Amino acid sequence: MANKVILVVLDGLNYQTANECLGFVQALRKEGQATQYRMQCELPSMSRPLYETILTGTRPAVNGIVNNQITRLSNQTSIFSLAKQAGLTTAAAAYHWVSELYNRTPYEPRRDRFTHDPSLTIPYGCFYHADHYPDSHLLIDAEMLRRRHDPDFLLVHPMNIDDTGHRHGVDSSNYRNSARHLDGELSNYLPTWIAAGYQIIITADHGMNADRSHGGILPEETEVPFITIGERFSHDSALTPAQTDICGTICELLEIAQHSKPVTQGLLTLPEVRHAVSYL
Ligand SMILES: [Zn+2]
Repeated sequence: MANKVILVVLDGLNYQTANECLGFVQALRKEGQATQYRMQCELPSMSRPLYETILTGTRPAVNGIVNNQITRLSNQTSIFSLAKQAGLTTAAAAYHWVSELYNRTPYEPRRDRFTHDPSLTIPYGCFYHADHYPDSHLLIDAEMLRRRHDPDFLLVHPMNIDDTGHRHGVDSSNYRNSARHLDGELSNYLPTWIAAGYQIIITADHGMNADRSHGGILPEETEVPFITIGERFSHDSALTPAQTDICGTICELLEIAQHSKPVTQGLLTLPEVRHAVSYL
């Protein structure tokens, strides 16, 4: 029986803002339930390229998704495709570019917004296409998918922090408040997910700069949080996980054999020996 995994990608949330504004997540750290790392995102610090990086463990310069305008299916193996191959179930409440990378391109809202098709790479999805689609609604979408389909892997991907950053910039009360708001929303779900035994990763694709954009190499646009919650994580704060290791780490948690993706050594503990036979 593998671990179930929830990956929360907070679009456009940089490390400093996560550290200062995610109050409930920081409370979990204080309780010893979460560990936070400063992660360097891959380049360019753009959304679609880094969705592909997070979900396939490959860099944009290698996977070819080098800007947001490239609308084609991924040609890499992903958490979704590897899980499907292994007979596992996946679901995503995510921006429609995720549907375009792994299910169908172009995204057609009337067909794809609500996806329920076991023949697809992501069989169960709630995909949205308005950047201001409320985080509160997105989290309800994710929770519906979790309750209805009990997926082994669930992607949760809200967009409001990024959207606010594009309108007001990184050093704005609006941007910081959007992170605080998200934290409050997330606090309605995390305790349930933790109690249910999920292994949870909270991270971001990229950060945000004062020019109301991202894409380059400034620390505020490339440093993102990487937060681990769950008993399968070592919680060794001395490690420096790479963004390209997220895919492999999740494959390990899902006990997908021979995934050939990079991992951060020491990030996970060994799985407990289940069904151990006692000879005493
Ligand atoms: Zn953005």
